[in-house]
Amino acid sequence: MRDFTRNEEGSHVIVLPFPGQGHITPMFQFCKRLASKGLKLTLVLVSNKPTPPYKTEHDSITIFPISNGFQEGEDPLQDLDDYMDRVQTNIKNRLPELIQDMKLSGNHPRALVYDSTMPWLLDLAHGHGLKGAVFFTQPWLVSVIYYHVLKGSFSIPSTKYGHSTLASFPSFPMLNANDLPSFLCESSSYPNILRIVVDQLSNIDRVDIVLCNTFDILEEKLLKWVQSLWPVLNIGPTVPSMYLDKRLTEDKNYGFSLFEAKVTECIEWLNTKQPNSVVYVSFGSLVIHKEDQMMELAAGLKETGCYFLWVVRETEKDKLPRNYIEEIGEKGLIVSWSPQLEVLAHKSVGCFLTHCGWNSTLEGLSLGVPMIGMPHWTDQPTNAKFVEDVWKVGVRVKTEGNDGFVRREEIVRCVKEVMEGVKGKEIRKNAEKWKMLAREAISEGGSSDKSIDEFVSMFC
Ligand code: UDP
Repeated sequence: MRDFTRNEEGSHVIVLPFPGQGHITPMFQFCKRLASKGLKLTLVLVSNKPTPPYKTEHDSITIFPISNGFQEGEDPLQDLDDYMDRVQTNIKNRLPELIQDMKLSGNHPRALVYDSTMPWLLDLAHGHGLKGAVFFTQPWLVSVIYYHVLKGSFSIPSTKYGHSTLASFPSFPMLNANDLPSFLCESSSYPNILRIVVDQLSNIDRVDIVLCNTFDILEEKLLKWVQSLWPVLNIGPTVPSMYLDKRLTEDKNYGFSLFEAKVTECIEWLNTKQPNSVVYVSFGSLVIHKEDQMMELAAGLKETGCYFLWVVRETEKDKLPRNYIEEIGEKGLIVSWSPQLEVLAHKSVGCFLTHCGWNSTLEGLSLGVPMIGMPHWTDQPTNAKFVEDVWKVGVRVKTEGNDGFVRREEIVRCVKEVMEGVKGKEIRKNAEKWKMLAREAISEGGSSDKSIDEFVSMFC
């Protein structure tokens, strides 16, 4: 076994996530794993509140904030193209200075680990003598679909409705249009997002290392194919080890949360509930529900008769029915942001109604919580397909009409199926199995742990 702590000076790697919660969290977790194996890290955080560089409580990780080019109070996401341009300009101005300063201080960075949504960073890394390691925060299947779109070998359906089977991939059930990443079928509504997601793969053939927040056995057969093309290392799930094995570390710092979690409120409320009795409901940091969908969800959750803990972000709160909080009383707790991992790890939580963001999906899977997928956009429909038909650790809600509306009866049906039904028992058994497999992957000697060792050994 290699002694990674032997390196006195500590080789340095720069890590640059896209400035969104679902990207910062897994890349910060990856930094912590690298730091525990002897690397020194500089995590570049792009935001509209840049501060001077500072150290985290992990001595080997320095945070280097860069401005996104917007002032506090400005809504950066009003115009995505403008946002991406400003982020790119600011990074291109500041990152070379950072690399230069590091070199002058004898701290020569060896690699740039960059978010897949910013593929132009590869040339910047190479231009400064650094290896370029791209980091994907989505499953391989999604990246492979985008790759085929890029190469013109996958024709995009014009709409997600009215199409049956469309594509097949190794060890994966046939996909229909409704299972594909949403922007493919909604390309006319979101042409700029489609360009960004497909461009993630634009220079992958030149990348030095390809990192993905997944673990080998999750997409075993597809992995063989991607490994035949690219230097792939699967390093996930990037769920802190304390939640998978409490003996490993007491580290509670899950990442840089863009919202303030109501920790005590959630945990104290959950402590008063019976094991497996609570439905945890969260749609991540970005999903925006239409008002009628929010009303229907609220009614459905109430009708289940189960206890529920629902994350409704501040910007969504006004869409709740009037007097809803008073009406549900002790049956439900609504918070603006939760400590999601602690909630999922709580014994009172019996299922997770999720939008199937890749982080949430991996977190539910790694903690063995049965899921109900209610995907909204981007890779979420494909992730929901994994949950229901590949790992069989949950169900997916059925939608109505052409705008993907989910009726209250459907919410009730899915909750009952997962919490009480015969299928629920099978789902629980599978969830337990995948929890063990996730734990194995990141434990010492597991597939992802070995990949992290391999990454570190390239630079120590
Ligand atoms: N999350 C959280 N508290 C919440 C809701 C979400 O800590 O109340 C975290 C969650 O654990 C996950 C991230 O936010 O790590 C959301 O990422 P995901 O990829 O699931 O969805 P996105 O926000 O990118 O749509």
